[in-house]
Amino acid sequence: MFTLPDLAYDYSSLEPFIDIETMHVHHDKHHAAYVKNLNDILVGHDDLLGMDINDLLSDINKIPEGLRMKVKNNGGGHANHSMFWQVMAPNTGKEPQGKLMEAIKSTFGDFSTFQEKFSASALGHFGSGWAWLVIDGGKLEILDTPNQDSPVSLGKTPILLLDVWEHAYYLKYKNLRAEYINNWWNVVNWKKVEELFESGVNHK
Ligand code: MN
Repeated sequence: MFTLPDLAYDYSSLEPFIDIETMHVHHDKHHAAYVKNLNDILVGHDDLLGMDINDLLSDINKIPEGLRMKVKNNGGGHANHSMFWQVMAPNTGKEPQGKLMEAIKSTFGDFSTFQEKFSASALGHFGSGWAWLVIDGGKLEILDTPNQDSPVSLGKTPILLLDVWEHAYYLKYKNLRAEYINNWWNVVNWKKVEELFESGVNHK
């Protein structure tokens, strides 16, 4: 069985950038629904229900064909949101440090160029989906995916992600996705992203 993880911080603590009402609806309703649907879809498949969600998504051909798309959507929804809550936190630093910052500079030139490219990817994504910073072949890469598709299914290791489904911002920002993206940078938990980078690079 998959379970909805608790937030590591209060629902109100990302204010004023991410509002409390959005956090409640997003975590308690949207993410909870992905978890419930995933468990319902996999009833009787105890081997799959016992797997780590990212392991499950990294080899989706293991999933019976009739269930594959539903698992990709709902399992992706569970994995993506679980990571999204972790890469945000209140009172974070504005920039990463250490090896991650070095890698960002060597890949993108400087941090603000990286931010501009990531924001452009999030803003330019048509419809529902996610913007990502991933490790691929030991190198950093920005990409966007539709729906709940995870880069894990493409063999890439995600270290940062931004939800650009309307449910992530519409209550507060209405149609102003660019404003949501700009404000979101204030709550990025760079310590966590640094951890994910270092374990991802060492894993490869
Ligand atoms: Mn979402």
